Amino acid sequence: MRTRFNPKAIEQMNAFDRYIKDKEAIQSILDKNKEKKIFLEIGMGKGDFITSLSQLDKDNIYIGVEVSPPVLALAVKKLQRYEEENNIRIDNLYFMSFDAIELSSIFNEGQIEKIYLNFSDPWPKKKHAKRRLTNEKFLEQYKKVLKEHGQIEFKTDNRELFEYSLVSMQNFGLKFIEVYLDLHKTDIFNIQTEYEKKFSPFGPIYKIVVEY
Ligand code: SAH
Repeated sequence: MRTRFNPKAIEQMNAFDRYIKDKEAIQSILDKNKEKKIFLEIGMGKGDFITSLSQLDKDNIYIGVEVSPPVLALAVKKLQRYEEENNIRIDNLYFMSFDAIELSSIFNEGQIEKIYLNFSDPWPKKKHAKRRLTNEKFLEQYKKVLKEHGQIEFKTDNRELFEYSLVSMQNFGLKFIEVYLDLHKTDIFNIQTEYEKKFSPFGPIYKIVVEY
């Protein structure tokens, strides 16, 4: 997603108390919540999915990771507006900005319950395959931070990325728990993301759940 740099939005993001800037800050929060489970969405975009999910499970902690600060600034704005309109404070949801390739330098071994990947950038050119969030380099990072038998839930509308991910996950030795070739034709529980709402009219949504 190309989003223009807006200095004022970045300033507002930096001032937002649940925008967490580094490892030290997030670990100090997690230290105070040792009995809770931690769920991550990587590449959260504007954050509708993880915000909704966090509200269905207020006893646990949800962290949205987004590499692009201008995109994350939009997510912060959206969350602030949502809290104001509903006169609530969502205190089990945090946002962070870093590249998922650095996941294991932010979180400890076995610290994460589950990772959600929604509509990850497809990087269609073969020479960019290493940037796909289901590339083995990323699967290694997820393995480092996930608990034993931790899961990844992955959704996409991109057939090529879906096919690539099946092979990549299989080669990594992950166990397939669920595969859907047309998620919206099933009745399984689903929270739609911004991209999902935008792209599902044009074709099926694919979903995989895998376990380490
Ligand atoms: N999950 C959202 C947004 C999908 S677009 C939705 O479904 O609506 C994919 C997002 O992933 C973009 O915002 C992009 O900036 C982010 N992203 C891409 N590579 C990333 C990486 N290596 N680490 C973290 N976020 C990444």
